[in-house]
Amino acid sequence: MTRRYTYGPFQSRRLGLSLGVDILQKHKICTFNCVYCEIGITDKIVSPEYRFSAPPSHEFRKELKNILKFFPNLEHISFGYNGEPTLNENILDFLKIALEVREELNWTYEKPKLTLFTNSSTLIFNEIRERVKQFELVLAKLDVATKVDFALSNRPHPETPKIEAIIDSIVKLKKEIPNEHKLAIQCLFYNSYREEFISNNNVENIKKLAYAIKRIKPDLVQIYSTARIPAEYFVFAIDDERKREIIKIFNEIIQNDKIKIKYY
Ligand code: SF4
Repeated sequence: MTRRYTYGPFQSRRLGLSLGVDILQKHKICTFNCVYCEIGITDKIVSPEYRFSAPPSHEFRKELKNILKFFPNLEHISFGYNGEPTLNENILDFLKIALEVREELNWTYEKPKLTLFTNSSTLIFNEIRERVKQFELVLAKLDVATKVDFALSNRPHPETPKIEAIIDSIVKLKKEIPNEHKLAIQCLFYNSYREEFISNNNVENIKKLAYAIKRIKPDLVQIYSTARIPAEYFVFAIDDERKREIIKIFNEIIQNDKIKIKYY
């Protein structure tokens, strides 16, 4: 069977057994060019206003069903993996098919959750938040909270809104998301071998991020680091001790037991 849309399933650090669904075209399309990106450099960096239409072909339903029937213990069906999936205008057509296929199959435990990875850059648009909130688990990237860190770490397209506006849009998303759906904030921290290059693992950024998360009130915060080859040679992973220190700083500022903060 030729596979066009799916990856895995694979054991994910943060999601358990997860099947990846890629709804972008065959190459990476993203609004960011993160120094730590594990897919590589973004050749096609686009504005958050950029949209394209790539509806699911009839193969999508067949492909999904053919794979899922062998994994009754799957935990997540995760949209993402090759850039920013919200750029595809047809994202909800894919979601609808995935929901239908899920209903047609038998599951050992709970049904796998329909999950979306987003880099949060398009959440300023009402219609995008409307689409995003239909996923059962939204993993929204936010690993910088200062202008300088945003420019250095995420290297956004020049038309990308300021980081403050992106944070405001995640606050809105959390208010709009149905109670039964969950929002997780993904914070990837890294170190830099280049002395003059400041990574996002700096105290000012970490504290400002904590204040942003305090406003967002997500269900979960996931702290992690690079695990594969990053886009830039000078990037390397932070260790578990540093992750625990970051959690301590977050907890001191956030002071909200309802927000679970975990490291991976
Ligand atoms: S947002 Fe995600 S896909 Fe885009 S460059 Fe950053 S890490 Fe890569």
